[in-house]
Amino acid sequence: MMRAILVEDIRRAQFVPGAVEFDTTRRSMFWTCPCGCGTIGELDILKVGVDRDTLTVKTTIGILNDDGSTHWAGTLKKGEWIDDQDRDMAEPRGRVQAEDRAP
Ligand SMILES: [Zn+2]
Repeated sequence: MMRAILVEDIRRAQFVPGAVEFDTTRRSMFWTCPCGCGTIGELDILKVGVDRDTLTVKTTIGILNDDGSTHWAGTLKKGEWIDDQDRDMAEPRGRVQAEDRAP
């Protein structure tokens, strides 16, 4: 497990593993891949189910490789990133495409 780090600008924390930014106006949660590769994902807070107070995401989320295979899958529970060890056995739900947000 790894502690999520709340940041104000996810782009400046791109290579911080497991950083989280809440964009209230767009109702999005941006997050960096917990592996530290620099991939930034975006979640629809209402659609996916995110509790901002406890830093909990109510489903499995993930980042896909270009070929559609899973790069990282897991969830965020009470501020801790939890890698889904069963990712080879179960398709992650609510996954998002990684976004290239480099300037
Ligand atoms: Zn990664």
